[in-house]
Amino acid sequence: MKKILAINAGSSSLKFKLINMPEEIVLAEGNIERIGKEDAIFNFKTNEVKDKRTLAIRNHEYAVELLIKGLIEKAIIKDLREITGVGHRVVHGGEKFNDSVVIDADVIKEIENISDLAPLHNPHNLKAIKIFQAKIPGVIEVAVFDTAFHQSMPKEAYLYGVPYEWYLNYGIRKYGFHGTSHQYVSSRVEKILNKKDAKTIVCHLGNGGSLCAVNAGKSIDTTMGFTPLTGLIMGTRCGDIDPAIISFMMSKTKKSLSEIENDLNKKSGLLGISGRSNDSREIEAGIEEGDERSILAQRMFTRKIATYISSYHVLLDGADAIAFTGGIGENSPLTRQEIIDRLSVLGVKLDPELNKKRGAENLISQEDSTIKCFVIPTNEEIMIARDVIRLINQ
Ligand code: AMP
Repeated sequence: MKKILAINAGSSSLKFKLINMPEEIVLAEGNIERIGKEDAIFNFKTNEVKDKRTLAIRNHEYAVELLIKGLIEKAIIKDLREITGVGHRVVHGGEKFNDSVVIDADVIKEIENISDLAPLHNPHNLKAIKIFQAKIPGVIEVAVFDTAFHQSMPKEAYLYGVPYEWYLNYGIRKYGFHGTSHQYVSSRVEKILNKKDAKTIVCHLGNGGSLCAVNAGKSIDTTMGFTPLTGLIMGTRCGDIDPAIISFMMSKTKKSLSEIENDLNKKSGLLGISGRSNDSREIEAGIEEGDERSILAQRMFTRKIATYISSYHVLLDGADAIAFTGGIGENSPLTRQEIIDRLSVLGVKLDPELNKKRGAENLISQEDSTIKCFVIPTNEEIMIARDVIRLINQ
């Protein structure tokens, strides 16, 4: 039995799960938010206890100390040596990493080299890697990259129609993200259908969102690109737009490039269209009230997703399954219904009763639907823990 810590570190947050492997039993989990603030939130839970506190957490070092203290105080572990491995979600692995990897000095250097591709994410992931190295000396650390699963995309899928030298000299290409989630969900579909070569369209719909076309366990296309800004309309991100809009809006508004980028990342998507919220629960409340812009935001959101599903159906030469995951995909029957209704020309048929169920793994399509539809709650931490074990055993 091995205890593996799965870590997802952001600029001001740190999420964790301690998992007993190979049983895949979660011993403790939690998240620390607003790191760097006087009123940070420490959230820690096991089967027996729930501990939620507001306190000053100056930095990530202290956040990790609190996490470790929590594990020992709550008798989840007696000694740090009980932790066999730590797996870190790392956002960008560039073209260098097409699989998870045991972290050593060379890997750290490579992740640093890639950091200009993900300046908002990779440095925080690296910081967490170094803190755990210091706090749990000698522990095996593994990097699990959000981009790695998509490295199987063919060149015709990942290149943009821009000068080829941009790719050669600057690495301009589609990398894709949410890879760990797409891999987990598509592998669940393979198991449920008992079909190793299943063709699955995974719809990861959360505050960020992406679709992935998976053929026999391999990503062949995905909607996010060089960055997570493109593809679907998201909570606050614009998704696909005409790049000429950027210079046009700079000249019209006299805003700087970084201000326009901020608008596209933080003030667009469901929030920008509805003028109300990035949260689909609020959009649904707006729809109930007859708010026109909420109705429009939802229609744009589901239209875009249905358009990508139909194009991936063609790319896959006929999909076996469509799987919904992420906060919206798992919890919003309305969104799933609107998307699937738009696919009726393909013979996809939703079962409205099955679709009402929330949060659990479920078939939601009718028996005679041409493509089976599922809700599959994602579990990136289990994938991280499995990769740590696989690499330890290699
Ligand atoms: P994630 O980024 O995967 O954590 O998803 C977060 C998003 O899921 C929120 O911003 C909401 O838009 C959405 N969400 C969570 N719960 C519900 C719910 N019960 N109904 C509709 N949307 C939900």
